[in-house]
Amino acid sequence: MDSQAVRAAMVRKLEAQGVSNPAVLAAMQAVERHRFVDSALVNQAYEDTSLPIGLGQTISKPNVVARMAELLCHGHADKLGRVLEIGTGCGYQAAVLSHLSREVYSIERLRGLHERARENLRMLRIANLHLLLGDGMLGYPRGAPYAAIIAAAGGEDVPAAWVDQLAVGGRLVAPAATGPGRQNLVVIDKTAQGVSRTVLEAVHFVPLKSGIA
Ligand code: SAH
Repeated sequence: MDSQAVRAAMVRKLEAQGVSNPAVLAAMQAVERHRFVDSALVNQAYEDTSLPIGLGQTISKPNVVARMAELLCHGHADKLGRVLEIGTGCGYQAAVLSHLSREVYSIERLRGLHERARENLRMLRIANLHLLLGDGMLGYPRGAPYAAIIAAAGGEDVPAAWVDQLAVGGRLVAPAATGPGRQNLVVIDKTAQGVSRTVLEAVHFVPLKSGIA
C-alpha cells in the first residue's frame, strides 16, 4: 500500500470536513494509522470509520481524533506542554498527540491493550510518549498539572480528578453522558477565574470503567 498517498487523501477529506489546524493535519499525515490496526483491517485503516482493536474496544475515526486534537490545540501557537490521554487503546491517538505536545502520558486500564500499544509504538521510538497501566479515572497525579487532558472513553460525568489535574490555562476534551443513552463531547477550560464547560456534538465512545483488568 502507498500509505503516504492514502493518508494524503484522508487529510484532504479531514480538511473538507472542517479540520484546519496545520499542526493537526501534519500529525494526521505523519502517523501511519495502518500500523495500529489488525492486519485483516489494514485496507480500512484510512477510511473514516472506527475499527475494533480487541478486548471489545475501538480506535476512534480519524475525523474524531483530528477534531479532538484541534479542540485541544485551540489558541496554542506552539506545541502543547504536558498532555494526559485516558484510554491508550492501540496507541494511535497517543502517537498523534506526541506530534502536538512536548510530553504525553497515556494511561490504559486493560493490560492486553497497554501491551499491544507498547508493541505498536516500539518501532516508532517516540521519546516524548509515556505509556502507563492504571485506572485513568484517577488521572495521573505524578504528571500534573497538564496543559491538556483528552479522554477516549466516556462516563456519567467528567471525573473531578481530571479537572483538578488540569493546569490553569489548560483544556480538557472528553465524551460525557448528557442524558439517557446520550453522549456528547465536552470541553472544560480552566482559567484563573474558574472552570467553564461547553457541550459540543453528540459522539459514541466506549464506556469509561474503573479499575485495572
Ligand atoms: N485512543 C485510543 C482509543 C481507545 S478506545 C486509540 O487510539 O486506540 C478507549 C480506551 O479507553 C479503551 O482501550 C479502554 O480500555 C480505555 N479505558 C476505559 N476506561 C478507562 C480508564 N478508567 N482508564 C484508562 N483507560 C480506560
